[in-house]
Amino acid sequence: MIYTNFREIDKAGRIVISKDIRKHLNINPGDVLHIEANDGAITIKKAESKCVFCNSVDDLSEFEGKYICTSCREKLK
Ligand SMILES: [Zn+2]
Repeated sequence: MIYTNFREIDKAGRIVISKDIRKHLNINPGDVLHIEANDGAITIKKAESKCVFCNSVDDLSEFEGKYICTSCREKLK
């Protein structure tokens, strides 16, 4: 499903990301977003989450707002 909105940018350069998009992408207050501008377009993504131990971005599980990869989780057992 594609969500499309038209939003006016304010004097401080802010825009509002609509509730349906935030809900769809699980974006919550305090989340860090990665903003990229390229060829006349702006792409906004949730910042990549990384394992707190090894910085891996693969097979992550979240626990209390932190991420841990499967491999580190196995080592902790
Ligand atoms: Zn790890």
